[in-house]
Amino acid sequence: MSRPTLPVLDHAAAAAAFVSDADRTEWHDAALWWIRQRRDTAVADVPDWEALRTHASAIKEHTLTHLASYLEQFERMARAKGLQVHWARDAAEHNAIVHRLLAEAGATRLVKSKSMLTEECQLNPYLEARGIAVVDTDLGERIVQLREEPPSHIVMPAIHLQTADVGATFHEHLGTPATLVDPVALTRAARADLRARFLAADATLTGANFAVAETGGFVVCTNEGNADLGMALAPLHIASIGIEKIIPTARDLPVFLRLLARSATGQPQTVYTSHVHGPREGQVVHIILVDNGRTAQLARPSYWRSLKCIRCGACLNTCPVYRRSGGHSYGTTVPGPIGSVLAPGFDLAAHASLPFASTLCGSCTAVCPVHVDLDAQLLAWRADVVQAGHGSSRTRQATRVATQLLQRPALARALTPVLRLALRVLPRAVTRALSGGWGRGRTVPMPAAESFHAWWRARSDHEH
Ligand code: SF4
Repeated sequence: MSRPTLPVLDHAAAAAAFVSDADRTEWHDAALWWIRQRRDTAVADVPDWEALRTHASAIKEHTLTHLASYLEQFERMARAKGLQVHWARDAAEHNAIVHRLLAEAGATRLVKSKSMLTEECQLNPYLEARGIAVVDTDLGERIVQLREEPPSHIVMPAIHLQTADVGATFHEHLGTPATLVDPVALTRAARADLRARFLAADATLTGANFAVAETGGFVVCTNEGNADLGMALAPLHIASIGIEKIIPTARDLPVFLRLLARSATGQPQTVYTSHVHGPREGQVVHIILVDNGRTAQLARPSYWRSLKCIRCGACLNTCPVYRRSGGHSYGTTVPGPIGSVLAPGFDLAAHASLPFASTLCGSCTAVCPVHVDLDAQLLAWRADVVQAGHGSSRTRQATRVATQLLQRPALARALTPVLRLALRVLPRAVTRALSGGWGRGRTVPMPAAESFHAWWRARSDHEH
């Protein structure tokens, strides 16, 4: 069952559609803020939290600036452990490799644990078009798969849905009673359905949270054990790993494991943290190391630090824009602040609205466990978007007028009293319309009793 490719969206328009349902906006915001607060509590329990973040950031920056040699080391060590390694330049190569491996093994039933990379590559529809039955086994992923929707959050794919939505979905696809909305009963129904699919699978596909260059092993973190069950049962295991997931040594791993779950959900650890250091007896394990735009991002001086991201989702949970506009409004695999930094690198024209989907309050940067300077990168993209001619024409015109005005101080001074008077006397509807998009949903402020210029001149006259 495939999921649609995400359409290219104007974020503001899509967000307006989301917030038109005030109830939904309210509980979506509250659910994510609750997780943000759990994160704060969990973080407060770790006295060396700030030192951990700094250390993790330094490890990632070191790895990214020596990425080629760590990738080669990882490949060498993984091969020595009996893991087979492939390289994919882009999504097309990745998907073709997965299909070839499945075809060579005669596999037609694939169970998949959560992997944002395979979402990014649109693997499900690619395989389904070639006769492979793909089942997402993470509960949230399974729910959105049944609904033929993309995930709306990188850690909680179905956070945009309420239990009644899930009940209706399961009633339609799994035959549960129409009135069933109890989360425990719904989870049991999903488990019973998935168990049979696990047992029947010919192959399993997982992502990886970390891949260790020193050992050639990789680590998969889940809360449901679905990746582990797939890995334990299927004779063929394919792991799709973005090249930025490499860390140098096994000693570095605990630094990230302490940060990841606390930042993501407020848990001290994920429930399952599985290490793969070679195939079990009778099993074949293939690793696909995927670039798909990552080296291009690494080459961008203003944005390479976004590759430090460990996909914890904390920046999404805290972002006032994401919480109130929902993940689908971004039209990208990874939504929220980190998605808005990554997506323009793939296609600037298509994602030109995303760097503006931020208040630049810096809350994302404040919670990021690996010190990705998200607000600074969003600001830099804004400049690049405008420079490339993709900014909104209204903003461009307004900026041009303001530039002209500010370059002529005498004219600006002459016009200021007129503008101040206009703001006072014109009806609110008119001033709101004149302020463009900014005035929508905001109260256009009244000018102060005295202009700053007049205030300043009065003071300097007085002091001299
Ligand atoms: S940018 Fe930072 S906070 Fe956001 S998902 Fe990545 S690691 Fe987490």
